[in-house]
Amino acid sequence: MQNLQEAHILQQPIESFIISAEEVAHVQPDNSLEHALLVLVKSGYTAIPVLDTTFKLRGLISKAQILDSIIGIEKIEPDRLHKTTVAEVMSTTFACVKKDAPFEKALSYSINNPFICVEDDRGSFLGIITRSKLLGYLSGYLHEQKKKN
Ligand code: AMP
Repeated sequence: MQNLQEAHILQQPIESFIISAEEVAHVQPDNSLEHALLVLVKSGYTAIPVLDTTFKLRGLISKAQILDSIIGIEKIEPDRLHKTTVAEVMSTTFACVKKDAPFEKALSYSINNPFICVEDDRGSFLGIITRSKLLGYLSGYLHEQKKKN
């Protein structure tokens, strides 16, 4: 098998792996947690991007963060779902790359992130790349290499 360090796959641009912004479920910072929870549950995703009205990435919101935010001292407080905004609960640290980033960089970010956000040079959101897509492609590539040798 070719030495993976030298393999072309690692330098390959990630553009072809992007799920485009139009296909990505998202919410806005001033949406209520109730709305975000509905989007998360209906879409079946664990976490989704938070985009502002200009399509700039502001954070990520997850089911776990929402559930955590409605747990009071001794009971669940569902009222908080419509009193609290996404901006108050979302995380503002997230993995993000430019569309011309190499496969290697996305793969390394995916170790700790189920998906990676992609922005253009002006910081506008272009879409996401999922860990499953990267690993699926890598697995296929390694399989092909094994067959060749
Ligand atoms: P997957 O590898 O397809 O299971 O996706 C991993 C994670 O990426 C999901 O749990 C979501 O957090 C996110 N994700 C994948 N596809 C989308 C999408 N179309 N819209 C929003 N988030 C997504």
